[in-house]
Amino acid sequence: MTIPFFAPDLFEADREVLLDLVHEIGTAPDQKFILGERTARFEEALRTSLGAADVVACSSGTSALTLVLHAMEVGPGDEVVVPAYGCAPLANTVANLGATPVFADIDPLTMVADPEQMEQAVTGRTRALMPAHMFSVMADMPRIREIARRHGMRLVEDSAVAQGGVLDGIPAGTWGDAGVFSFVQVKTFGTAGEGGAVVTMDPGLGQTVRTLRNHGQDARFVYGRTGYNSRFDEVLAAFQLHRLPGFPERLERRARIAGYYTERFTPLRDRGVTPPPPGRNGRCYYVYSLLADEREALREHLAARGVASHVHYPLPLPHQPAFARFAPSGRSWPHAESVARRQLAIPVHPHLTDAEVERIADAVCEFAAGRRDR
Ligand SMILES: *Cc1c(COP(=O)(O)O)cnc(C)c1O
Repeated sequence: MTIPFFAPDLFEADREVLLDLVHEIGTAPDQKFILGERTARFEEALRTSLGAADVVACSSGTSALTLVLHAMEVGPGDEVVVPAYGCAPLANTVANLGATPVFADIDPLTMVADPEQMEQAVTGRTRALMPAHMFSVMADMPRIREIARRHGMRLVEDSAVAQGGVLDGIPAGTWGDAGVFSFVQVKTFGTAGEGGAVVTMDPGLGQTVRTLRNHGQDARFVYGRTGYNSRFDEVLAAFQLHRLPGFPERLERRARIAGYYTERFTPLRDRGVTPPPPGRNGRCYYVYSLLADEREALREHLAARGVASHVHYPLPLPHQPAFARFAPSGRSWPHAESVARRQLAIPVHPHLTDAEVERIADAVCEFAAGRRDR
């Protein structure tokens, strides 16, 4: 039996609740499927738990980034500094607004944008910095926030993967002018579909994002600005409200699994397998990612022992055909390029049993031992 990368029974315990919600909302007299009182309650629950000025639920994490950048009036002629390694929305959201993503190299161990590289990428056209938290580690927000302040730029925190993470006592999502969450199934507070949220400490920005997510509508069928359809689903709002109290426990399970892996794998560093750094501060446990010098061999070894694994981002963003036009010729991003060749994620979802976690760890250790003997 292969241990799957994602838990197929992630929502099994909530099945009745979800089916009942579909029926209840589907047959209610007001026939309100989007942006109703459940969405408002869900936003308020997140807002209070974070101590934010506003939380605006929307259709995806990608859309949340777009709404924030649009609300900040990022557009043609503007540059936004983003990590050279990460997911496509980091560059797509900027490019689709007509602005230019400028790629900064990453830290070779934590895989998040290197603050020094971000600062070096700043020009007179830079409007915002947009660091992203990665698989297990949050970006260095204290330093990046300092850089944004010093240069008078906006700070967008791509915290799509880091909901529940805390760095120096400050929750992920609340470090910048705005942060975002994604509720797509794979994320820490994933759901049975698509969704996202904008988190902000700036009530004015929150209000602008609210109008932008619903076509720029100020009052019913009155449009003050051009906007988007990025509304949130009532069934999922109610479902996420139901799942919210269990979130800390699921996150804690992920953290414990990650802690165990790191303990087992730290001695493997000089045998070509490097785990994320230990500790709890600024960690997010979205995905547990190793750096393996012989990634394909490790992948095959794990597959042969019934352990699913994933390669996230086989190419750095500036090497993707879609974003090549934003990659100045002759520039390279050596750490992003190296990580893209070595990154391998192993299962860390909260439904893994202790026996499965041990089996996965054993398989990785066995691989590293075999390498040493060669
Ligand atoms: C998942 C993700 C997004 C996008 O979220 P979606 O809900 O899938 O649109 C943005 N940024 C990062 C870093 C992500 O991992």
